[in-house]
Amino acid sequence: MPDGKPDMTRAWNFSAGPAALPEAVLRRAQAELLEWNGARASVMEVSHRGKAFEAMAARAEQDLRDLLAIPANYAVLFLQGGATQHFAQIPMNLCADGQRADYVVTGHWGEKAVTEAAVYSRPHVAASSATSNYTSIPPRESWDLDAHAAYVHITTNETIHGVEFPAIPDTGGVPLIADMSSDILSRPLDVSRFGVIYAGAQKNIGPSGLVVMIVREDLLQRTPRPLPKIFRYAEHAAAHSMLNTPNTWGWHLAGLTFRWLKEQGGPAEMERRNRAKADLLYGVIDGSGGFYKNPVEPAVRSRMNVPFTLHDPSLDAVFLRESEDAGLLALKGHRAVGGMRASIYNATPLEAVRALCDFMADFAKRHG
Ligand SMILES: *Cc1c(COP(=O)(O)O)cnc(C)c1O
Repeated sequence: MPDGKPDMTRAWNFSAGPAALPEAVLRRAQAELLEWNGARASVMEVSHRGKAFEAMAARAEQDLRDLLAIPANYAVLFLQGGATQHFAQIPMNLCADGQRADYVVTGHWGEKAVTEAAVYSRPHVAASSATSNYTSIPPRESWDLDAHAAYVHITTNETIHGVEFPAIPDTGGVPLIADMSSDILSRPLDVSRFGVIYAGAQKNIGPSGLVVMIVREDLLQRTPRPLPKIFRYAEHAAAHSMLNTPNTWGWHLAGLTFRWLKEQGGPAEMERRNRAKADLLYGVIDGSGGFYKNPVEPAVRSRMNVPFTLHDPSLDAVFLRESEDAGLLALKGHRAVGGMRASIYNATPLEAVRALCDFMADFAKRHG
């Protein structure tokens, strides 16, 4: 991957999702696009039941297992439907009618998860930071948990509000379920603390249309209600995620990203880089004398998504136009929060964040 300035057409991309992919992954995919792995066809044009695809799929799973040190009693699934489908499918699989499921809501995506869960279970908001406009995480002591709940659900990184759990909360014997769509693989993880981890791919793994799910095997045995096979995680696990035709392209790209992550030094190295990138950007915001502001409590600020506002919102349009002209894309914030947002996932190099920080400092000087 060429370090430094991108070429004229490919700019630094701060999109929240679908997000920037590692340039090395894109180049490799491009080089192999027409003729993949000796198949005399692209990876998108061969049977998912063929040897070449099966070998790729097995390697992608093994690389992910290596990267996160996933214990043997967890299944790894490569599914479809986006994280949103699994907001609904998780309670369908894990929670009986009328049984309580605890949700800790720290932003927009947690809210969505609760809403979808209400159809098949009795979600209980055990804690919420809505009253702080999702700028904090309620302290663990304040959570109203039920020891008989089907599970406790958290969103480890709230992509829109820029709030991230600094550590994994303890939920005793109740399985912890985590939507990690926007921070999976960004730091080392103790998978054994979780019942289920799931992540839509388009933030930190690959293209959209793929969901990676890590499920503790005992949870696959739960059968709270009859379900069509296609909605049962146990069926997908038994079929190695090939109950029907998987997202073959997404799976392949995820595999290339996992390999790239291994070459880079894995989650420990990603954590070091992500810390450095986030510190740099928050440093510019906090050091701007109020020109830029991030409202999130410092201890729970996201290392992946950095929302910030300008002291004068009438400058927003100018900021966006000038940043684009400077080769810095997709900085517009989500409408729920307003202002700007820079998403700086694993694929975003330090150079991109430096370029953004330089632009922001210069912009503040000119408009301050
Ligand atoms: C993007 C995102 C989602 C939604 O993903 P879809 O693939 O669009 O369903 C859910 N949760 C989090 C934390 C996200 O960042």
